[in-house]
Amino acid sequence: MFGVRAKFLSILLVIFLSVVALSLNIIYLVGDGMSFNQLLLASILEGRVLTTMTLPYTAITTTYSYDSWVTDSAPAGTALFSGFKTLNRAIGVFPNGEPITSIFEIAKNGGYKIGLAVTCRVTHATPASVYGHVSNRDDELTLAKQLAESGTVDVVFGGGWQWFLPTANGGRRTDGMNLIELMKQKGYEYVNSIDGLKSASSDKVLGLFAASHLEPVSSRPSSQPTLDLMTTKALEILSKSGEPFMLMVEGSQIDWEAHSNDFYGVWKETVEFDNAVKVALEFAKKDGNTLVIVTGDHETGGLSLSKGGYSVNVELARKAKGTTQMFLSQYNISDKEKFVQGLKDWYGISISDAEYETLRKVSSSNLRRELARFVSEKVGFGWTTWDHTAAPVPVYAFGPGAQYFVGFMDNTDIPKLILKLTGLSTIKFPVVSAAGN
Ligand SMILES: [Zn+2]
Repeated sequence: MFGVRAKFLSILLVIFLSVVALSLNIIYLVGDGMSFNQLLLASILEGRVLTTMTLPYTAITTTYSYDSWVTDSAPAGTALFSGFKTLNRAIGVFPNGEPITSIFEIAKNGGYKIGLAVTCRVTHATPASVYGHVSNRDDELTLAKQLAESGTVDVVFGGGWQWFLPTANGGRRTDGMNLIELMKQKGYEYVNSIDGLKSASSDKVLGLFAASHLEPVSSRPSSQPTLDLMTTKALEILSKSGEPFMLMVEGSQIDWEAHSNDFYGVWKETVEFDNAVKVALEFAKKDGNTLVIVTGDHETGGLSLSKGGYSVNVELARKAKGTTQMFLSQYNISDKEKFVQGLKDWYGISISDAEYETLRKVSSSNLRRELARFVSEKVGFGWTTWDHTAAPVPVYAFGPGAQYFVGFMDNTDIPKLILKLTGLSTIKFPVVSAAGN
C-alpha cells in the first residue's frame, strides 16, 4: 500500500515540477552585429573580463538567412525569435509572405508577460522580430501599428515616437493614426523621459525616449536612458505580478558602429550591452528560475584584432576620446592644421601629408567611416567590409536549461530550445532548406 502511495506522490511531484518548469522566465539579450571579436575588443580595451564572458555555458551558431550566407538583421531576428529562416529584409514572415508566430507571441498566449528594451527605434528589425510581420523591414509604419494593435508586448522601451504619431502631431504617420493614444486606451502607461521611466508603475508601459533612435551611447544626452536602466525597469515591471515573463534586450548600435568601422564606438556600445547583461544576470541569480541567453544576430564589419605586425596598440586605443562621428562634429577636414592636430589629440596618431590628401578626397558622406577605418588601422584593428559577414557568433547561457546551449548550432536552434525548456510548445519544426549559395 505504502509503495502505491509513494508512487502516487512521486507522480504528483512530477506534475508539480512540470508546472513549475512551465514558468521559466527568459531574458534574451542580442548584441546587434556582435560576434567574438567585438566582445574581445571591448574586453581588451576595458582591461577586464566582460560579464557576458562569465556565463557558464557557451555555444556557437551560424547566422545565414534563407537566401544568403550573409544575413541582415530582419531574418536574423526572425530566426532567433521564431526558429525559421526567411529572406533578407523579411520580418516574421516565411519566404512566401505568410506570417510566422514568434516565441514571444507563443509565450504571450501561454500567459507570459512580454517585454523589449532597445537603443534603436522599437520598430527596427530586431525588436520588430519580436511582434511584427512584414516582408520589408523598411515598413516601420506598419510595424508600429502591429505593435500597438497586437498588444503582444507589455513593456516597450526604446526610441521612435515619430512612427507612432500622425504628421499633424509632429510624427510620420500619414494614416492619421495616433498609436500612442491607441495604446493608452489599451491600458498602457506612456513615458518619454528618464523621470517617467523611473516612476512608471503600470503593468503595461510604452516608453519612447527619442523621436527616432536613441543617441549612440558615446554621445547620449542625459535625457535619454541607458540600456541597463531600461533593462532594470523592464525586469521590475515584468516580474512584479509573479507571472512568467520573456524579455528581449538589444544592444542595437554595436552594429552601426561596426558598419562605420569605428573601434571606439564598438567598444562603448558593447560595454553598454554588457552592462545590461550584468543586470539580467544579477536578476537571474537572485530569482533562480530565469534563463539568460546572450548572443549576436550576425557579425558586422569583418573586425579583426590585428592589422598585422603581431600587435595592437592597446594603450593608444584606450586613450581615444570619442567616435569619429563625434570627432568630425568638432573638426573640419578642410582646416588641415586643426584636423591634423585634432587627430593627435583625440587618437594620438600622426597623419602624413599623403594620408591627409587621400582622406581629403573622400566624399563627405563616406568620410566618417573612411576616417574610422583609418584610425582603427593605425591603432591595430582591421576591417574587411562596411557590411555584415557570415562569421559565426557566440551564445552564452546561464540558469535553468543553460546546459543545453553548448556546441555548434544554428541560430534557429535557440528559440527551439527555449520553447522546449519553457514547455510552451510541442510544435514539430518542418525542415526548411538552408541557403542555396
Ligand atoms: Zn543585426
